[in-house]
Amino acid sequence: MKRTPIIAGNWKMHNTLAESTALVEALKKTTNKNKAEIIVAPSFTSLAKVAELAKGSILQVSAQDIHWEDKGAFTSAVSPVQAKDAGATHTILGHSERRSVFGDTDEILNKKVAAALRHNLTIIFCVGETLQEREENKTLDVINGQIENGLKGFTAEQLKGLIIAYEPVWAIGTGKTATPEQAQEVHAAIRATLAKKYGDNFAQATRILYGGSVKDTNVDEIMAKPDVDGALVGGQSLIAEKFDRIINFN
Ligand code: PEP
Repeated sequence: MKRTPIIAGNWKMHNTLAESTALVEALKKTTNKNKAEIIVAPSFTSLAKVAELAKGSILQVSAQDIHWEDKGAFTSAVSPVQAKDAGATHTILGHSERRSVFGDTDEILNKKVAAALRHNLTIIFCVGETLQEREENKTLDVINGQIENGLKGFTAEQLKGLIIAYEPVWAIGTGKTATPEQAQEVHAAIRATLAKKYGDNFAQATRILYGGSVKDTNVDEIMAKPDVDGALVGGQSLIAEKFDRIINFN
């Protein structure tokens, strides 16, 4: 099945309003020769501004995370209602930094998935193994567990449009990229898991992105793999020319 590619940029805790503005304005000019869906995930201080600037353009805007409640006494958190109100159409959930630094467990993520679905935010659900887990041959068990528990209780119908990002923890921000073969192997396994859980149609329609030190110099070979439907990019998504080259992968 032909799937529209997605190139998503996770800006993490970077960019002032002025820097976000400059980056969006530059990205709006991309030729986007592959007709990819292009998503940027600014930090919350820039979200409303970026969404306003992106209106009517090719860019879609994602939150980097949401809280599971719609409102309440959760100092510093941002609810799905607020993220939507600021202009987000997507949210990343389960990024490895959220899992390892902020303690997002599968159970917490399951509540965040419910919150995103409740408010019609398209989910970019991140999964991935640590180096130790890979060396112990646990990669697929870990990822299947993250999918099983994080998405627990939802049907294929409810999860329609879900985007998965395979991000090996050892490759994020380290300069170490999974080889295209390693990425393909895991992506194919994720698609097989999705087929078993949600049926073939769901699995074939679901975009699975690779993330972990994707660069202008390695994107082409990664995107050439049949089960790699796009990229979630950290560091290089902050540099307009680099991200533009990634969007226009060959
Ligand atoms: C990420 O933050 O999701 C990521 C993949 O980062 P980087 O591209 O910098 O490795």
